[in-house]
Amino acid sequence: MHIGAHISSAGGIHKVFERAEAIGAEAIQIFPSAPQQWKAPVISDDQAQLFRDGLAESAKPAFFHGVYLVNLASPDEALVERSVTSLTQYLDWAGKLGVRGVIFHAGSHLGRGWDGECAAQVSGLMRRALDAAPNDALLVIENNAGQGNCIGATFGEIGEMIRGLKNDPRVAVCLDTCHALAMGYDIVTAKGCDAAMKEFDKEIGLERLVAVHANDSKMPLGGTRDRHENIGDGHIGLDGFATIMRHKAFRDVPFLLEVPGFDGKGPDIENIMRLKAIRAGVGLAAPHFESKERE
Ligand SMILES: [Zn+2]
Ligand SMILES: [Zn+2]
Repeated sequence: MHIGAHISSAGGIHKVFERAEAIGAEAIQIFPSAPQQWKAPVISDDQAQLFRDGLAESAKPAFFHGVYLVNLASPDEALVERSVTSLTQYLDWAGKLGVRGVIFHAGSHLGRGWDGECAAQVSGLMRRALDAAPNDALLVIENNAGQGNCIGATFGEIGEMIRGLKNDPRVAVCLDTCHALAMGYDIVTAKGCDAAMKEFDKEIGLERLVAVHANDSKMPLGGTRDRHENIGDGHIGLDGFATIMRHKAFRDVPFLLEVPGFDGKGPDIENIMRLKAIRAGVGLAAPHFESKERE
């Protein structure tokens, strides 16, 4: 099991490997462009080559996180067009750079309801993004905390999106532990975690789980708000993460931290160490490249 983190790509995506190494991250997630803007990624040939070299050398699983403005469920046509364009650009770059996929938030239906028209729209738009970037990069739907009118909080809704894409093999899922707990999935107890992952398997299929956002939660079970906490300091806790890691559904899935950090600067070495200690405690192996470094 790889334990990694969201890593700043300030100054260029080729700089992320050094930063990942500095905190002991074994997998990385990055924004290839500013996540609050629609601007397409600007990556020079040199940067792209450095990134590919860095990725090959480090052998770390890598993902992009999509722009926060993306909303595939909006009734606003201009907004959904920009969303498709943004996802297409990200998928295209992921393919060129050897990044596994683009993790994104599907959006909010803004009160009109999910069923029927909205569900068909979301699947149709994802279809367009995939077709416009014909490569191996995955389009990875992230579950959310069930806040407001956000779509994709339940495994059932995510499953529906995937069925709307005729089970395209390029569609995958990232499970955010904080969002799942806030949505009411009791993943911190062995029984609750098993029930949740059985539901995931039935609605989505465990083979589509390609990443975990490993975040503790400031909100309790069912709090339906998205508030990340450092590992061990929230309602999931160290024991909760041990329960999650022990479950077979997560065995080969990279864990990516998106926590506030103990000094408020994002994922840090302490959060990584906490997850690695739990990994060792439940008897899971570190990825091979790490043990090699220690020899
Ligand atoms: Zn997340
Ligand atoms: Zn979140």
